[in-house]
Amino acid sequence: MGIEINSYNIGALIKTALDNREIKVYYQPKHNAINGKIQGAEALARWQMSDGVMISPAMFIPLLEELGLIAELDWYMLRETCRFLADEIKANRHVVTVSVNFSRLHAKEPDFAERLSETVDKLGVPRRLIEIEITESALAMDGADIIKFVRSIKDAGFEISIDDFGSGLSSLNFVKDVPASVLKIDKSLLSGNCEDEKERIVLESIFDFAHRLNLITVAEGVETKEQLGFLRTCGCELIQGFLFSKPMPENDFREALKLADSAPEAEDILLTLPPASATQLLLNAVFKRYPLVILSNLSRNSFYMMAYEQFSTRSCPSTGVYTELIVHGASTMHPDDKQLFSDTFDVQDQITAYENGQRERAVVTRQLGDDGVYRRVETTNYYMKNPASEDILAITLSRAIE
Ligand code: C2E
Ligand code: CA
Ligand code: CA
Repeated sequence: MGIEINSYNIGALIKTALDNREIKVYYQPKHNAINGKIQGAEALARWQMSDGVMISPAMFIPLLEELGLIAELDWYMLRETCRFLADEIKANRHVVTVSVNFSRLHAKEPDFAERLSETVDKLGVPRRLIEIEITESALAMDGADIIKFVRSIKDAGFEISIDDFGSGLSSLNFVKDVPASVLKIDKSLLSGNCEDEKERIVLESIFDFAHRLNLITVAEGVETKEQLGFLRTCGCELIQGFLFSKPMPENDFREALKLADSAPEAEDILLTLPPASATQLLLNAVFKRYPLVILSNLSRNSFYMMAYEQFSTRSCPSTGVYTELIVHGASTMHPDDKQLFSDTFDVQDQITAYENGQRERAVVTRQLGDDGVYRRVETTNYYMKNPASEDILAITLSRAIE
């Protein structure tokens, strides 16, 4: 029979457990979403009582946090992880970056980054092999201080990942401002087989957002092939979940790393290509053919230039008022084509045409390049309604033709 842990005895129990090294580090691998290779791992605490009973962190971590005793455990986990990595490096075995969880309470520790650096250096582990996981709720505490805290860790040479993204208060602003390099998407966002369309839209948007901020994404709690398939199409880079691996003790993890190191490289070019979101790939293909791509909201007279590369380098705004964009465009046209261009892309005329069933409109005009030569340019607008707001949108694709 195990001892019951409660808020009265946990302080003393955890101290003894740490002294006796009854707390074990379990490692859960993070796998490359495309080829399945182990590219990292997370260190997770397991309390193995003297009678062999194993206690899950979900039971004791919240208690330790509440009582302000979590710091001890986190530093212990870091030291144990470093000890493991240092041994592996010494034995010339293959290692990967391991992330360690640090509770939000550390944000208040002055000189956290110094202590972290000293600990890791003293144990002989290169700093790039340690990643610090901080939960989003910790980041949501108070702005400037947390950014300073995270920056000091980053400046010391450690990677930072934002843990449990999407589980609680989602603070997009913080993800934008905090110098993290990894975003871990919480398992609560993933249902069994990603069959719900709204759920897919939410996930696609999160991955898009993360990738546009150059964050590496890790999906947590991946249990099914369907989830994996969907995550791949989102360009998710790393998978952490029971589908590939459960958290495992040190010895098993060492074996898993050995296998990973000896596995042959995937030869299929599709499997070795860096994963990218399908939307981004599609856009790249479009930009290749159409160097000028504009998304406009005709109802609101605004535009956003998605790609701009032309033989004319005359400065062109990248976002602004649609009617001004058309005036600017007309100014680069051959005198005989100016009127045609302005008439074709008159805002009110396009909206009326859409309401009368027109879905696209194209025009060929002569446009002056910086070299003083006119080129024939084809400009096509495709119209659609924004389903969320009823606004009429236009996608403009433009390219020079022979
Ligand atoms: P976490 O940081 O979100 O860790 C991931 C949790 O998801 C782990 O739970 C892991 O076992 C579980 N998990 C991984 N893959 C799957 C899956 O496919 N399906 C399901 N259902 N679960 C999966 P675990 O080990 O019980 O840890 C719970 C939490 O306790 C962790 O959540 C973390 O917040 C905290 N924790 C664990 N170790 C430490 C530590 O050393 N320090 C601190 N501060 N917190 C820790
Ligand atoms: Ca974590
Ligand atoms: Ca997590």
